Amino acid sequence: MLEELATAYDQAGGAVPRAAAGRLAERAKILHLAAVGFHASLAGMATAGRIVEGARAGMRGFADLLMPPGCMTCGEPVSTPHSFCGDCWGALPAVSGARCRQCGVPLPVAWQAESHCLGCLKDPPPFARATAPFLYDGPARQMVLRLKHGRESWAGPMAAAMHRVAPGWVEPGRLLVPVPLHRWRLATRGYNQALLLARALARLGGAEVAPDWLLRVKHTPSTRGLTRAQRLRNVSGAFRVREGAGGQLKGRRVVLVDDVLTTGATASACAKALLRAGAEAVDLLTYARVAATDATPYLERIASEEATNQHVIAQD
Ligand SMILES: [Zn+2]
Ligand SMILES: [Zn+2]
Repeated sequence: MLEELATAYDQAGGAVPRAAAGRLAERAKILHLAAVGFHASLAGMATAGRIVEGARAGMRGFADLLMPPGCMTCGEPVSTPHSFCGDCWGALPAVSGARCRQCGVPLPVAWQAESHCLGCLKDPPPFARATAPFLYDGPARQMVLRLKHGRESWAGPMAAAMHRVAPGWVEPGRLLVPVPLHRWRLATRGYNQALLLARALARLGGAEVAPDWLLRVKHTPSTRGLTRAQRLRNVSGAFRVREGAGGQLKGRRVVLVDDVLTTGATASACAKALLRAGAEAVDLLTYARVAATDATPYLERIASEEATNQHVIAQD
């Protein structure tokens, strides 16, 4: 039976297949206890190194197949894999209403259909436009954190939400560039969550992904709790375009992909490097974003909350 389950999992490209999930529901009940034990043993495995992390993720995905589906953020039972329960769905903080036409920040008053925020009027970012389906809060923040901490398969549903709010951005001929991790961070985590989102987006819209054209050449300490000015200093000179990739960037409109937009310092540094290398324009597509351009007090609050969250997620 295990072989049959593994084949179904492989055929679905690593995602949990709906039909298979239905067929396997009965068997899953029997295997539930075994899977719970399996999860417990996974929690005890060593986490260092890409190979171990990759193997662990693969086994977690397999264990997910055996478990009845749970809400992506709270774990409550749901009928469809990779979905939200009613409460989490209702609590998703969608970005709606008037927005800055450049950085996408929600504006307090819809005095014009397309306005710039004060931040973009004073100091325009290098990216041409930015959009995100959700604010970085509630279940949307949980999704971002879980994608970073082992839930790689959440990238599919997250990319679907991003694709819906950016019509015409991800299509054949368009180039998707994920915000890169420094190789030390990549070695620890085992994967780049922005690359997972870019690949899932490319599958939806037929665009091309450039996974390693943009490099993070400077290892920057954690940016939690830093102001926008501090973050800008932190990422100064941190990114460059790979030797030889510039020719392929010339004259192309690039979509920079990341999980979350906070102060925009990282995205701005990436966009500058891409523009210097010849890109015609850079658009920024993220899953979540903060609600204000200068979000320092908000970032301080979530930094302390996330420190607690890491602990919770590590035990998940
Ligand atoms: Zn839920
Ligand atoms: Zn703006």
